Amino acid sequence: MGPAPAAGIPPVGRYAPSPTGALHLGNIRTALLAWLHSRALGGRHLLRFEDLDTGRVRPWGYDVTRRDLEWLGLDWDAEYRQSERLPLYAAALAQLDTYPCTCTRREIQVAVQEAAGAPHGAEPVYPGTCRPTSDRRPSGAPPPGRPAAERWRVPPERVCVQDCLTHELLCQSLPGEVGDFVLRRGDGAYAYHLAVVVDDAAMGVTDVVRGADLWPATPRQVALQQALGYPQPAYWHVPLMTDYRGERLAKRGGAPSLRDLREAGAATPGRVLADLARSLSWATPPEVSAAELLPLWRTYAGPSRQGAEQAGAMLRP
Ligand code: GLU
Repeated sequence: MGPAPAAGIPPVGRYAPSPTGALHLGNIRTALLAWLHSRALGGRHLLRFEDLDTGRVRPWGYDVTRRDLEWLGLDWDAEYRQSERLPLYAAALAQLDTYPCTCTRREIQVAVQEAAGAPHGAEPVYPGTCRPTSDRRPSGAPPPGRPAAERWRVPPERVCVQDCLTHELLCQSLPGEVGDFVLRRGDGAYAYHLAVVVDDAAMGVTDVVRGADLWPATPRQVALQQALGYPQPAYWHVPLMTDYRGERLAKRGGAPSLRDLREAGAATPGRVLADLARSLSWATPPEVSAAELLPLWRTYAGPSRQGAEQAGAMLRP
């Protein structure tokens, strides 16, 4: 289940953007909430660029992110880039029970379809195509010329995690619901799940505030924390911002970026912050500063922090 946040101990929080483009208002709202959480409780706040997917990183993505955050009055105590931390991920990977896999997505898809009762439309469960067994060589032993990914042999135990903001409890059996997942891709890039778990532990992150889209992936990350003997942070998954059609804002979907609003002179930090706050139904004047929103976050999340603490105490084995 994992720990609930410790009362009275200032948290270490982080905002972890991928520098793949300019931030849209949905990204910015998550950044704001992560900052409010760290600062409302007198904690440290980190900025971590998740830039391992080098094909998608834009060199200007770092600066534009920093400028957006500073423009809104959001500060941070330390900054990191995952691309500078590869030896840490390599060391963690070496501690885990993994195996090489050269199956292509297409091959896995075919194997999934052939498996009886494969759920329709659900995220495909990796069917273990390359998983070595005691009586045969790994079928995925790299044929010459095909680079191998490393997959983690997921543990059989059910993993449960509770969200501190929503109180939702999510339990997953990884072998049946996810399958052995990739920790290092065939091109050598470390997977997000591995890097995020290694970094949160190495940076002493106690409270993870991030978008609700990552909630279904949380049991995978908790399982990795358990396998590596890391502490488990408290999780706060905040709602994603949607447009008037109810669709979530996305860089790829053409959501307006804060940079565009800034450069067009169409917005002031105070108005953007007030709009973001009102999008969460927080009552604010037409212009506010980030610091003025601190008590509103306390009201939004404060009771949950204590509630989660009690729930955690009850549910802990
Ligand atoms: N890099 C992820 C994103 O941009 C966030 C990861 C996290 O907060 O754990 O959505």
